[in-house]
Amino acid sequence: MKIWAMVAPRTPLKLIEVEDPNPKGTEVIVRTTHCGLCHSDVHLWEGGYNLGGGKVMSILDRGVNLPLAPSHEIAGVVDAVGPNADGVHVGDKRIVFPWIGCGKCDRCKAGEENLCATMSPIGLLRHGGMAQKVVVPHPRYLVDPGNLELGLGATYACSGITANGAIRKLEIDSPEKPVVLMGAGGLGLSAVALLKAKDHRNTIVVDLNSAKREAAMEAGATAFVDGTASDLGAKIKDAAGGPVPYAIDFVGNDKTARVLFDNLAKGGRVVIVGVAGGELNLSLAGLIFVPRAIMGSVVGTIQDLREVVALANSGKLKPLPIERMPIDQANQALQKLIDGKTTGRIVLEHNNTD
Ligand SMILES: [Zn+2]
Ligand SMILES: [Zn+2]
Repeated sequence: MKIWAMVAPRTPLKLIEVEDPNPKGTEVIVRTTHCGLCHSDVHLWEGGYNLGGGKVMSILDRGVNLPLAPSHEIAGVVDAVGPNADGVHVGDKRIVFPWIGCGKCDRCKAGEENLCATMSPIGLLRHGGMAQKVVVPHPRYLVDPGNLELGLGATYACSGITANGAIRKLEIDSPEKPVVLMGAGGLGLSAVALLKAKDHRNTIVVDLNSAKREAAMEAGATAFVDGTASDLGAKIKDAAGGPVPYAIDFVGNDKTARVLFDNLAKGGRVVIVGVAGGELNLSLAGLIFVPRAIMGSVVGTIQDLREVVALANSGKLKPLPIERMPIDQANQALQKLIDGKTTGRIVLEHNNTD
């Protein structure tokens, strides 16, 4: 099969031929029809994450083997099943849950494979959606898209569940309380749409690019704050009607985390999702006098994926804007994402005839 492979950091993806996969045991081979591009793919391609304080987490030190087909937002059609793979058949359309845990630890057994210490994600430690075929270790990682179009369905495997997982962690106790979302990229817009689908009625979006206002309001935001404002904290509190009970940071840099944390209400919480990177110094006494929680959230669970797909099938979850490009333009697509020249999600479409 062909894969569009990352061969070295910051080097154009290359079309190469690798051995066709053969399913063993419980494995299922999915022929990729669509794969979404995520900012994590950009970090992968750049070779690492900014950990703050001048430190970088190198993807090569984290066990990534090159060449590798990126993309962890995958949908397609079952192409072959192993002898012990029950419940799926050749020809079934499926969305792939890519966050594969060991299956044995307490987190995996609790259904939180995304928190497994030895997680081995598809598109990161195994070939992802930029391969013509993807090896899925077990049918339990496949979700029936129902009546969803597969290009849209693919995006739920990361942007959908990451937004859902972060919203879940807020433990929102009233549909009227303000939720502040920093960043109106693919993830932020997913969160806006999910909150609306869950009947939340007070969602404030902050973004540096006021051209994103329209997309945010269209997705269901109730207010938009221009992130370039010099008194951004005051502007956010104005929009929220006071200190903020709930916030999600889809950017995750020194400035965004700072402004959200500093403007939380007593008992408020901020969930950090974006990995732009940086550091946050906290006053420990301040954390007590205005008790607040700051926590990280990484992707989501298979249950998040089922929930998001069900909401989308019910018609309550508005689809994100998707920009479709042929897989042959994988490099141009990646560049577009790096340049920030996209609203919503880029989905690459495979040409399944060769
Ligand atoms: Zn992702
Ligand atoms: Zn595990």
